[in-house]
Amino acid sequence: MDQVKHTGKLFIISGPSGAGKGTICSRLLADSDPERMCLSVSMTTRAPREGEEHGVHYYFVTKEEFQETIASGGFLEHAEVYGNCYGTPREKVLEKLAAGTDVVLEIDIQGALSVKKAYPDGIFIFILPPSMSILRKRLTGRGTDSMEVIDMRLSKTLEELSYIEEYDYVVVNGELEEAVSRVKAITIAEHSRVTENIHELIERYKEEI
Ligand code: ADP
Ligand code: 5GP
Repeated sequence: MDQVKHTGKLFIISGPSGAGKGTICSRLLADSDPERMCLSVSMTTRAPREGEEHGVHYYFVTKEEFQETIASGGFLEHAEVYGNCYGTPREKVLEKLAAGTDVVLEIDIQGALSVKKAYPDGIFIFILPPSMSILRKRLTGRGTDSMEVIDMRLSKTLEELSYIEEYDYVVVNGELEEAVSRVKAITIAEHSRVTENIHELIERYKEEI
């Protein structure tokens, strides 16, 4: 199938806070060719954390700039997550897909549900923690949130699980290597689907005879 020109695929990696979306995405991207797969950089109104760079981890913008982007239709989806606004820049994603590069969105569940409406061809992957107690430990260990915020994130998780049936795949992030290989396997399998491109390939075979 590689001989046939195709548009890239949109992979939406989503799930509760602390499930490991960020960790899995950075591993997935570190091991892949940037021409084949890239991560969409979101816009956010939250302040950068230590070590985060504008244009690499996020585009850090003011609330006004964010509102202007909404007004000009510049987001594929946007959502308020724990008091901050986050959005996926539409044009950049569509350009990459048109150029044949897969795009990975690492976004929250509300965002994933909006993308499903706007882009139903996306492949939706839900990342689950192995248990709620492990999720609590990971959120505590990450050290980015207060106990109060962690309690809020855990109670939101139970509500978020009710949307799991909207997704195509679920990956339990117990052992990291195992979870990363499962996500990689999904991306590979999705490129082996029979699509209308197959007719182009069959035509070429016919010409060769
Ligand atoms: P999310 O992006 O879903 O909010 P993160 O990727 O930030 O979650 O992961 C939350 C914390 O759990 C981080 O400190 C990360 O290093 C840790 N973590 C992620 N996956 C695993 C794993 N499989 N085993 C142990 N710790 C993990
Ligand atoms: P953080 O502030 O910890 O980087 O991210 C908080 C949450 O916002 C995470 O669940 C992350 O997946 C989500 N997020 C990051 N970018 C976007 C985006 O563009 N859209 C949506 N809907 N959620 C996002």
